[in-house]
Amino acid sequence: MRIMIDGRYLPDNARVNRDLLITLRNMAKVLNWGIRYDAQRELVLINSKDSSMPRLPADNHADERSEEENARLAGKVICLDPGHGGSDLGTLGPTGTMEKDNTLAIALLLKEKLEKSGATIVMTRDTDADVAYTDATANEELGARVEAANQADADLFISIHNDAFASNTASGTTTFHYGDKDSVNLANAVQRCLAEKLGTKNRGARFASFYVLRYTNMPSILIEVAFISNAVEEMLLSSVDGRDNAAESICEGILKYFKV
Ligand SMILES: [Zn+2]
Repeated sequence: MRIMIDGRYLPDNARVNRDLLITLRNMAKVLNWGIRYDAQRELVLINSKDSSMPRLPADNHADERSEEENARLAGKVICLDPGHGGSDLGTLGPTGTMEKDNTLAIALLLKEKLEKSGATIVMTRDTDADVAYTDATANEELGARVEAANQADADLFISIHNDAFASNTASGTTTFHYGDKDSVNLANAVQRCLAEKLGTKNRGARFASFYVLRYTNMPSILIEVAFISNAVEEMLLSSVDGRDNAAESICEGILKYFKV
């Protein structure tokens, strides 16, 4: 079961079991909260402001979406770049989870969501593999990613990464751009959606001279979704819900950028 408080999902992968549900119901009684359990969706809804029953959130199944919604990104080509892969593991979390797995999982979820809005997606990789060739150097890898986006004449380039720092208390979400107006707008839109939905510290949209941002011909951003070196954020990055929330927010940010 998931928990939604005052219309917002809890950002981490907190799960409610039967015992906790009983506890929550007792708490709600004492604190005068509204609480409702939706068994079909395995969702606990809490209204902390008053004791009225919280309203169920609207379903967003694809078949209930309007045709207009399904075509919002029609004609747009978006290149998704899951950071690292294959022989390049990226950074590792405290429990051994790998950046290359988190970035691929988020990118594949994002691909699905963007395609539902009509976009054409080009992936620099869609399996756990190097992009250029097995055991390629870091520079060859970056070159191959840029080439994939430029050759596809993509409208956007989105590179997905996990942040890491020596201190395990560093946390939050950052989106990097190369300073051109469109990339800055895209970075701002995506960064806002991500920090809001994940509930992570908003480290802002920032300039960076990363190779993949410098040499791609289209508006491009590099997203550090959260810190894999931080135990709490490692859980977010490796959990099904955390990855889906990340993908959903990036998708929302892209829709906002295109104003559709
Ligand atoms: Zn990375």
